[in-house]
Amino acid sequence: MRNHKLLFLFTFAFFILGFINIHFSLLGMFCMTLPFVLLFRTKKKTWCQGYCPRASAYTTLGKQKKWKSRNTPEYFIKGEMKWIMLTYFGVSLFFIIMTTIAVARGIRLPMNYLRFFVVFPIPYKMPQLITLDWFTPWLTHLSYRFYSMMMTTTVLGLLLALIYKPRTWCTICPIATMSDSILKK
Ligand code: SF4
Repeated sequence: MRNHKLLFLFTFAFFILGFINIHFSLLGMFCMTLPFVLLFRTKKKTWCQGYCPRASAYTTLGKQKKWKSRNTPEYFIKGEMKWIMLTYFGVSLFFIIMTTIAVARGIRLPMNYLRFFVVFPIPYKMPQLITLDWFTPWLTHLSYRFYSMMMTTTVLGLLLALIYKPRTWCTICPIATMSDSILKK
């Protein structure tokens, strides 16, 4: 099964919706849970093989480039890079959960800006075309954190697609690493 070639539109829609209202980024939770739901139901990486919008975005961008792709580094395919990315993903999730709990308990203020790689603040205030006041501060914090994480990994994947083969990110994607580990068991 191959990713539908227009699936990348969902990736663009996700990031554009964040400018309409940041709370739409919570929809990205589907992209994190659906791969595992499908994995347990079908016993194979159905999401990666047929439905992942980000893979479609990498493929689409990769096809546009006019230069030759470099060979994917060996340490991406077999080496430590996938475990480094999985660790980054785990640490990010840990920070997201702990800081969201802290905001919910009133210990810290919600983050209302984006960060690259969890720690680097982006000095740009996202316009919010629609105001949704009924969201609690911890949900707003979670939304900005989640959008930041999705943005970081998507930018990394797009850069890799420009330098190496289009789906190089998939060799180190934490979702794929976890899926492979589950399938091995
Ligand atoms: S490895 Fe990651 S980016 Fe690639 S298809 Fe699977 S979930 Fe999508």
